[in-house]
Amino acid sequence: SIPLSFFGGIGGASKRGILVKGSNYLEALAGAETVVFDKTGTLTRGTFNVTRIVPEAGVEPADLLEAAALAESYSDHPISLSLRRAYGREADAARVGKAEEISGHGVRTLVDGAEVLAGNAKLMRAEGIDFSALQEPGTVVYVARQGRYLGAILISDEVKEDAAAAVRALREAGIRKTVMLTGDARAVGEAVAQSLGLDEVHAELLPAGKVEAVEVLLAEKSENGRLVFVGDGINDAPVLSRADIGVAMGGLGSDAAIEAADIVLMDDKPSELAVAIRIAKKTLGIVR
Ligand code: ADP
Ligand code: MG
Repeated sequence: SIPLSFFGGIGGASKRGILVKGSNYLEALAGAETVVFDKTGTLTRGTFNVTRIVPEAGVEPADLLEAAALAESYSDHPISLSLRRAYGREADAARVGKAEEISGHGVRTLVDGAEVLAGNAKLMRAEGIDFSALQEPGTVVYVARQGRYLGAILISDEVKEDAAAAVRALREAGIRKTVMLTGDARAVGEAVAQSLGLDEVHAELLPAGKVEAVEVLLAEKSENGRLVFVGDGINDAPVLSRADIGVAMGGLGSDAAIEAADIVLMDDKPSELAVAIRIAKKTLGIVR
């Protein structure tokens, strides 16, 4: 049977916008030892601004941005939403054909009957595109049309206001290790991890690589310690279910993530995780 105090704990959490899907997750949360964060949309806002457009010779910057925005018409990825916002116009649906999302890489879409690729260096390499990698410490979207490289769009995201405080609060709540996983470039991942004081960062991961990283961390933690994964869920459903406790961002998160998660943070603030851990510990009588 479930102790009555658990209902109080779950109720108290839900009043703060922390939805716990069962008393077992509250109990597990009280034993949290390792916290693993996804980067984009979880520790960062996920609203990228275009900072620079670097077209190839003979390509108009506006044409490059339009190709990328149209190619991103059907994706829910934060990068897609940001490129469409930067384009500033409604995409003409008649110009956009078959679209494919290649997770951890980017998109492949028919635009005006031509195949447009928009994504990272990994995508360009996989597709054999002759491109020039930018040596810049930001997220880069490379664009190609019909096998020809059009240029790059530099975009930059911001760390959420409460992210550094969230990491400190987790330490105060007894978390031993904080980790960030990202599919983004190493330079970007390391800069964010360092600014937040995270213990570990793993970058340039595909969704399967995130699951593998979580498996290593599960093997490293103590027997009774629990591993929490926090993500916005875009491409992250497999990791959310592999962790002892999967936490999704409720506002930004995809429906699939909210479905796969054990706990949902409705207001998208990473600092609410430490609050949830405190509530869990109080409920179990571990702290007063
Ligand atoms: P994160 O781990 O930061 O949440 P993802 O795993 O969702 O990132 O994506 C990893 C990388 O794949 C992104 O940094 C980006 O380079 C590329 N990517 C993924 N989806 C898209 C997209 N729709 N358009 C462009 N690039 C994308
Ligand atoms: Mg993500």
